[in-house]
Amino acid sequence: MATIEWRSPASEMAVQQFDMAAAKLGLDANVAARLRRPDRAMIVSIPTRMDDGKVHVFTGYRVQHNDVLGPFKGGIRYHPEVNLGEVSALAMWMTWKCSLVGLPLGGAKGGVACDPAELSRQELQSMTRRYTAEILNFIGPEVDVPAPDMGTNEQVMAWIMDTYSQHKGHAVPEIVTGKPVAIGGTLGRREATGRGVVYMIIEAAKHLGIDLSSCTTAVQGFGNVGSVVAKELAAIGVKVIAVSDRSGGFYDAQGLPVERLLEEAADNNHSLEGCSYGEKITNQELLELNCDILVPAALEMQITKDNAARLQCRILAEGANGPTTLDADAVLKEKNVFLIPDVLANAGGVVVSYFEWVQDLQNFFWTEEEVNKKLRDILVKAFHEVLNMSQKQKVDMRLAALMIGIDRVARAMLWRGLYA
Ligand code: GLU
Repeated sequence: MATIEWRSPASEMAVQQFDMAAAKLGLDANVAARLRRPDRAMIVSIPTRMDDGKVHVFTGYRVQHNDVLGPFKGGIRYHPEVNLGEVSALAMWMTWKCSLVGLPLGGAKGGVACDPAELSRQELQSMTRRYTAEILNFIGPEVDVPAPDMGTNEQVMAWIMDTYSQHKGHAVPEIVTGKPVAIGGTLGRREATGRGVVYMIIEAAKHLGIDLSSCTTAVQGFGNVGSVVAKELAAIGVKVIAVSDRSGGFYDAQGLPVERLLEEAADNNHSLEGCSYGEKITNQELLELNCDILVPAALEMQITKDNAARLQCRILAEGANGPTTLDADAVLKEKNVFLIPDVLANAGGVVVSYFEWVQDLQNFFWTEEEVNKKLRDILVKAFHEVLNMSQKQKVDMRLAALMIGIDRVARAMLWRGLYA
């Protein structure tokens, strides 16, 4: 068999999860063979003139996993560790995520191996524009619609939108989601992923008969997802005992003042470094704290067979994509931890991206209340579908979510057949 360049620990994990769900579903073998790998994977060189006048060539990726349900959809990650295997895994998870929550969209992901914190604004802009130019012929409002992910934000989306629009000769806001509202973004997109995680925690607590106002939480990651989760959980009375980012974590058993932490981070280039509240802990220590709700909202593969047995939470809400390995899943199941899997927990981001795309296509914009209500309805419905499947098939919430997502994609593929 030929070497498959998109193999990596994350993509192996994504494929193994797929195989488990496919086996349980009794999936058609021909369909399974196609879904185990991406439709298309691009590696691009991104020559960028740096502030010192030298040209640095960054490596970028865009992996399009499957578009049977609609245009490819997925974020773009800027992180030093980005590689083809990771992007492929993330693209596959996007396919299941969009399908699970009923969006007419497929799955993709992009990334550039870089440290955005080390780049000047000008360098970041030049790199983003050249990356966009390199993938320009393979994206489009009806083809593949990028969005933010770790290390990218609405400014990066605005540059992508502008680069694409300059090439087309007119404004094309629907090429990208997660844009600033001023150029066709939607209200509520920035907070959508974190807000969705909180809606799912509320549903899980109802199901388990837990009173959230007496609960504690630890949140790993203080970016676009983690910071919103911490803020919104604190607003409904959950005690936030620990937060962290890549500079490390901060812990206070009495609860941290989230609003003040947000202000400090905002003044410090969105970093918690030097935070003046709580006691310093590591990212690994945070995961093992005694808390009711644990929210990993950073990188994948954080909860592994090495630390899963030491987790003390009752609810694990995966704000990040792929934070828990398969071995760890088995341990958590034994420990009776209630899992809200990534494709459900963090789907709020892509759901509101879908709303943004729809609003752009119609040139008709909604209020933030409408956005939030529609988001909540979609996620709550998906939560109960997953819970029912999990109870009926006696599988954990992850397998149930994957089974629903994969089954819808497979049915669509069977209808459409194989073009050959
Ligand atoms: N990057 C986000 C995710 O992992 C959002 C993708 C999107 O909005 O297209 O779900």
